[in-house]
Amino acid sequence: ATVSHELRTPLNAMLGWARLLRSGTLNQTATARAIDSIERNAAAQAHLIEDLLDVSRIISGKLRLNVRPITPMGVIEGAIDAVRPAAEAKDIRIQPVLDPAAGPISADPDRLQQIVWNLVSNAVKFTPRGGQVEVRLARVDSHVEIVVSDTGSGITKEFLPHIFERFRQADSTTTRSHTGLGLGLAIARHLVELHGGTVSVHSDGEGRGATFVVKIPVMIVEETPESGRGEPGIRPTSGSCMAFSQAPRLDGLRLLLVDDEPDSISMLSTMLRSCGAEVASANSAAEAAQLLERFLPHVLITDIGMPGEDGYAFLRRVRMLPPERGGQTPAVALTAYARAEDRTRALLAGVQMHVPKPVELAELAAVIASLARRPM
Ligand code: ADP
Repeated sequence: ATVSHELRTPLNAMLGWARLLRSGTLNQTATARAIDSIERNAAAQAHLIEDLLDVSRIISGKLRLNVRPITPMGVIEGAIDAVRPAAEAKDIRIQPVLDPAAGPISADPDRLQQIVWNLVSNAVKFTPRGGQVEVRLARVDSHVEIVVSDTGSGITKEFLPHIFERFRQADSTTTRSHTGLGLGLAIARHLVELHGGTVSVHSDGEGRGATFVVKIPVMIVEETPESGRGEPGIRPTSGSCMAFSQAPRLDGLRLLLVDDEPDSISMLSTMLRSCGAEVASANSAAEAAQLLERFLPHVLITDIGMPGEDGYAFLRRVRMLPPERGGQTPAVALTAYARAEDRTRALLAGVQMHVPKPVELAELAAVIASLARRPM
């Protein structure tokens, strides 16, 4: 009902004004207003359609990142600029506190801007006139942190756990005062996770404002003889890694790959080796369990659908092992599904992240790099 309502509302305005324009009865001021309104509504609808397409790409596992090394400040400023007119119209002050040196991260700048735009525009949308929105960018340990906080309507503790779910809105009644599909945050979370990061939310309750925190791992920078030649702090990508849209390097990392498909194993291990990782592989859960203890990988990457013991059962078995036998190895699940329930099941079984198939090296490598660096 919400989708239908949100798509039809701008259509209504566009059709109505177009008909009035055709009738030739509008004076100059009204004509300008009509054109303005048509343009604004078309843009709003284009945005809704983009969101719906993004969700369908996420569900079918086809959302792709175009990552490269960036420092996020410019992207964040771009997102703030795009929201500024809406903020000014409500007399809301947006205060940026941005560290220009934070980074570098391996990110898709357009998608990162989409994430920040979503958070900042929500902050403006759910904050009453005269309120404040603060956007911070800083480096914290091995992450870049982007914090968007507002003095707005806040979020009840009942709604907090559902806020990143698709089509979820605190107020989805027909009498609600805000427009929107309830997709922005679900998309934002997915995009953040594709960057190997996390997003979290905090609110003290209704009327007490809200704070969203995005963490994205800082790119692994290694001191190598060539690294002096590139941009400061950014390791030049080399050789075949370049062909895979500049995936982060994984030098020095041991990875254990579990998949029953030999083609999939050979493709993934070739990709990961091209980024410098040492890769061992197993084509069944039983074989993987043996290898795990001998090889003690930094990260475990497992398929979910496998004959015999599936990925879930395998992970539950791993999690019962003591740490020195690999029981706490961070794990990534490779799944052909990206539904919320698949994610939940994988998380419950003990994975830290899941990456949809078909796998894109840049995404998988970013996820692995971030997992390898963070303690369980
Ligand atoms: P939409 O904004 O289209 O409703 P989102 O996925 O962006 O969809 O947000 C989902 C819901 O989360 C919103 O409808 C609102 O109830 C809540 N929400 C998001 N951001 C904020 C915020 N800054 N303050 C209060 N509530 C928020």
